[in-house]
Amino acid sequence: MTISDKKKVSLKNITKYTIKKMAEALSDDDIVPSYREEATDDDGDAGDIISSAKKMRASGLSYENVKVFSDGKCDEEEAVKYNNFTWICCKINDTEQGTKKYYKCSFKRGSNCPAKIYLLFHASNFEVTLFQAIIQHDHTTESKQTGIPIEVKNVIIELFQNGYTTPKAILSELDKLKIIQPKASQISSFLVALREKLYGPAQISLNYIKKWCIEKSIIPNDPDECFVANYYIKDDDADPLFRLFVTTKNLMKNCLNSNHVCTDATYKLIWQDYPVLIVGTTDKQCAFHPFGIALCINEQTNDFEFMFKSVQLTIEKLYNINYCPIISVGDASGAITNGFINVFNVIEKNIMCWFHVTKNIDTQLNAIKDKKMKAELRQDIKFMQLIKNETIFDAAIKLFQKK
Ligand SMILES: [Zn+2]
Repeated sequence: MTISDKKKVSLKNITKYTIKKMAEALSDDDIVPSYREEATDDDGDAGDIISSAKKMRASGLSYENVKVFSDGKCDEEEAVKYNNFTWICCKINDTEQGTKKYYKCSFKRGSNCPAKIYLLFHASNFEVTLFQAIIQHDHTTESKQTGIPIEVKNVIIELFQNGYTTPKAILSELDKLKIIQPKASQISSFLVALREKLYGPAQISLNYIKKWCIEKSIIPNDPDECFVANYYIKDDDADPLFRLFVTTKNLMKNCLNSNHVCTDATYKLIWQDYPVLIVGTTDKQCAFHPFGIALCINEQTNDFEFMFKSVQLTIEKLYNINYCPIISVGDASGAITNGFINVFNVIEKNIMCWFHVTKNIDTQLNAIKDKKMKAELRQDIKFMQLIKNETIFDAAIKLFQKK
């Protein structure tokens, strides 16, 4: 494939050179043929599967018409066995004449035979014509290249850099680009290698974390630059442990005018299945303002305690203020509550996050068959939630319980 083809995939940040080097470095084995920048004499080898009419002209293969199927249903089944060879589809190309579906000879896995055929599904009628490339089969040379062809790897790297980071997203983009898709499992293992290449090994050692924490512990001048405000690493073979809290000066500012703290854990941000604990506060418009995030091995009392303590310590360090919020908002887990009390001593109110409440209410309400009653109950709860005066709220609760 030529560079101009690749540009169609909207490559932004990476230079051609980097992609080329990366794809080479990431090949399944070391015997991948060297990459050619200009494909002037390209005979369209195994990797040549990018849809492009221009490319086909450049390939220099001539085709002859060998068979016309007048039946509209023709017949890929027949095509894939044409002349008793095994043909596999390698490219689909929409042209003015109609759709051309190319196949290459695949006499065995990893073969590199130049023979090709294509089916032309005429745009103007229901005819389908089979064309055969005027070239001899060659079943003597064997390409060692297996897995994802290097050209497709290039495209995947580009997609990855443009934010398509899951096999599913990549497959869907490859589909749009009419590139023949590797298996999801192949993409998945390619992405593992790619991530490692781009971001370093996924398995990081405690020593590495420790080194990183120390390096990042210095509070930077830039108020938006992140630093490790606090960390705890237990380098014990039997029971290794780490906790670290990352924030920026500007994020810590969010603490200053808040006496309530919202806390939750998420598993959605990471590759290694460690929870990311998030702490922050909300304003009157219900917008969330984070203080920072903690990465821990668990989401137990100790972990939340560590995070609250980190917030407190950092505020003390930065502003010389003893930060003591009195309200905790969360999913009402004991771990958050206990962690909160261990650090801030008191907890005046322990508010359940409204999102978690409604989720639970809905689950409970599903037990009620009567649709009208269900809607009424939900409406009542919603209304009571908005009562600002505690006495009225308590009275309303009594009424509701009677109901
Ligand atoms: Zn062949």
